[in-house]
Amino acid sequence: MSISANINDFKKQLGAVNVKLIAVSKTQPIEKIQEAYDAGQKIFGENQVQEMVEKHELLPRDIEWHLIGHLQTNKVKYIAPFVNLIHSVDSLKLLQEINKQAQKNNRVIDCLFQVYIADEETKYGLGYDELIELLRSDEYAQLKNIRMVGVMGIATNTNNQKQIKEEFYELATLFKGLKQAFFRDKPEFAEISMGMSGDYLTAIEQGSTMIRVGSAIFGERSKKPLTGQNNN
Ligand SMILES: *Cc1c(COP(=O)(O)O)cnc(C)c1O
Repeated sequence: MSISANINDFKKQLGAVNVKLIAVSKTQPIEKIQEAYDAGQKIFGENQVQEMVEKHELLPRDIEWHLIGHLQTNKVKYIAPFVNLIHSVDSLKLLQEINKQAQKNNRVIDCLFQVYIADEETKYGLGYDELIELLRSDEYAQLKNIRMVGVMGIATNTNNQKQIKEEFYELATLFKGLKQAFFRDKPEFAEISMGMSGDYLTAIEQGSTMIRVGSAIFGERSKKPLTGQNNN
């Protein structure tokens, strides 16, 4: 199916359940993103800073750019002027830098806590205890130019649907606990970013409010990123 047909298909599926579609456009060329945009898609997710900056410059201004991959503190400054949501906050240090760069740009930047839910040796994401400690810290209380709007998680890369379901359930449960304990008077704390091409239906069933979908829209990715950069 074409990109626009895929977008329309997702819009139809998601309209009824009030779930946002983040079209993951990493490694995809400008023309394909433009095609998705022309089909009505306005939110795109990238996992590399340099690639997102380049695409932001070339594509329509009303696109919402979401950073979904690991973010190094020294690169926050490049996206701070325009990024709409950072899904991958995994440390207090990173959050402090986002706050600092947001302040420089006279902005408040929306962020999600990336929580570690997978049963594998991935490098990124906050553990539960670490997240609670962060939320209780004085340093966190002082941050005025960031706004936490929810949590994000990546399930284990497995075909075991039961396991994926349990991991998403865990994240949704954690979200509810955090909401009660730390964000009761913060209506904006409302997002659970979970679900990708292979597991978005399970994610929605478990309460996802944002799915991050790449290959199911654009087709398989080539292995190499388009820009020279190979990590961030
Ligand atoms: C690449 C990526 C996705 C999209 O993956 P697909 O399987 O292509 O849908 C979602 N989330 C993150 C964090 C990613 O890096």
